[in-house]
Amino acid sequence: MIIIMLGAPASGKGSVAEILSAEYKIPAISSGDIFRKNISEQTELGIKANEYMTKGQLVPDDITVSMIKARLSESDTKNGMILDGFPRTVKQAEALDQMLEESGKKIDIVVNLETPEDEILQRITNRRICSNPECKAVYNTVLHPSKVEGICDKCGSKLYQRDDDTIEKAKNRLVVYFEQTAPLTEYYKKTGALYSTTLSQKINRMKEEVSKDVIEYLKNK
Ligand code: ADP
Ligand code: ZN
Repeated sequence: MIIIMLGAPASGKGSVAEILSAEYKIPAISSGDIFRKNISEQTELGIKANEYMTKGQLVPDDITVSMIKARLSESDTKNGMILDGFPRTVKQAEALDQMLEESGKKIDIVVNLETPEDEILQRITNRRICSNPECKAVYNTVLHPSKVEGICDKCGSKLYQRDDDTIEKAKNRLVVYFEQTAPLTEYYKKTGALYSTTLSQKINRMKEEVSKDVIEYLKNK
């Protein structure tokens, strides 16, 4: 099973990916997490990626594509995977198609999360993440706060706010999203893999309902 998660920053891609990962027993691969891990380890890739990420810009396609290529060659992806945050440009989508074609695989579904823009900005600025790399639980100080402020419910580690989750950088990331990533919905509409659905607090349709619908859809496909 190959699942692609599309959607604006903080639209809930990672949360839905986590549920689907447990359901299908395939890894959820977050390009942002891989970059952040490289940044914390000060690798060559991390140093390069950080230049762009701190500005809320996309990391260039060639760097991103070779990073994903390396990750997809790992053995845990042999039964499938969920890609969260990749592709983010048409160039990346074309590169992914080529990689999959070479290994005789194809995308089963592209889950496109549609979330109102005002909610997105709130979700970004209220987002807090567990600093334990084995946990990475995500909270929201308003929608889904931790029981003890600043402390992860699941593992007791400290929560932190991402450098790029400030209002200014978030606005920039949204512009980048609309310019460079949103056109991917057209790209995947043509392939027939696109599944667009709303994830929104306002209508009380959150990760659980969305995931359930995706699983149901895939069953009947
Ligand atoms: P979010 O979905 O909240 O924006 P991510 O963790 O997916 O967060 O991405 C954080 C940042 O990492 C992006 O703003 C971008 O700078 C970089 N990044 C992640 N994935 C990609 C990608 N596929 N192409 C280019 N840059 C990426
Ligand atoms: Zn934790």
